[in-house]
Amino acid sequence: MTWAELSTVIDNNDSFLLSSHVSMDGDCVGSQLAMYWYLSSSGKKVFIYNHDTLPARFSFLHNSAVICSKKPTETYDVLVVLDCSNPDRLGWSGSDSIARIMVNIDHHRDNTNFADINIVDKNVAATAQIIYSFFESQGIDYPREVAEHLYTAIITDTGGFRFSNTTSTVLHICASLAEKGVDCSKIYQYSYDSHTQNGMMLWSRIWSTLEFFCEGRVCALKLPLSLIDELGASYSDSEGIADWTILAQGVQVGMFIKYKDGETHFSLRSRSGVDVGKIAQKIPGGGGHGSAAGCTVYMPFKEAEKYMLDIIRKELD
Ligand code: 5GP
Ligand code: MN
Repeated sequence: MTWAELSTVIDNNDSFLLSSHVSMDGDCVGSQLAMYWYLSSSGKKVFIYNHDTLPARFSFLHNSAVICSKKPTETYDVLVVLDCSNPDRLGWSGSDSIARIMVNIDHHRDNTNFADINIVDKNVAATAQIIYSFFESQGIDYPREVAEHLYTAIITDTGGFRFSNTTSTVLHICASLAEKGVDCSKIYQYSYDSHTQNGMMLWSRIWSTLEFFCEGRVCALKLPLSLIDELGASYSDSEGIADWTILAQGVQVGMFIKYKDGETHFSLRSRSGVDVGKIAQKIPGGGGHGSAAGCTVYMPFKEAEKYMLDIIRKELD
């Protein structure tokens, strides 16, 4: 880990822009807010810009209002890209010219080492785990609010401590965050058990699309994106739903399919060791982890579903 390099960049520069991947998740939010705290408390000018707006369920986090979705017009000394494997995943253009130096802190396996300084650890559960290690290595003492940022990031990237990335190291880290006063129950509730009624109506419609393929080894749930507006729900209500696709016994690969016009996005999940990251990488721009990945196929829904099923079937045989 190049902590010295990161410290030098921080010491020698004044203005920082933070950003992370489209459809931001808890790790994006928590990592950015923890880094925001560290940089601003070190006297730096810090701005957070993301392509998408903050999912409402994370608005309980301290300082969450600093996460902005209005693109800045000025330039910065340093762009810190967090939890994002390549510049396209930012969802905005110009990342190579908005700052003099680009730093990338990430844990995605398909990371392309695109920045000037790449702090990439593909073996950790969350980007926040890397930030935790940075704080530890520098002896940085952070308040409970920042421990909550890190804890939220880790709990969400481990699916509430149920994915295979829930290692003893992860649990030790979370225990030490709990010792800093993190309210674990509150964070679980906000992250997982806090939904709008319109959002839950959306869920009921998504559940009604449940379908199994490949002798029950593949499960699919589907969402025409127009349904979100129709029900007065929001895009972030569809987060976490991909995990339902591998709840059934016998299912090895799950896909949650979101679509509009000629564009179909697959959120892939796996059990029993099938590598969905490898499957997603067969599609240009696709990628992710072995057990959770995604890709966009530029075809109408039915055609895209058949296309993806053919790829998955080959992988299962
Ligand atoms: P989710 O299905 O929860 O949106 O994403 C699961 C994992 O796959 C995350 O690590 C996410 O960053 C990654 N992922 C989702 N969609 C895409 C995509 O279109 N391209 C790439 N490269 N990664 C994706
Ligand atoms: Mn992550």
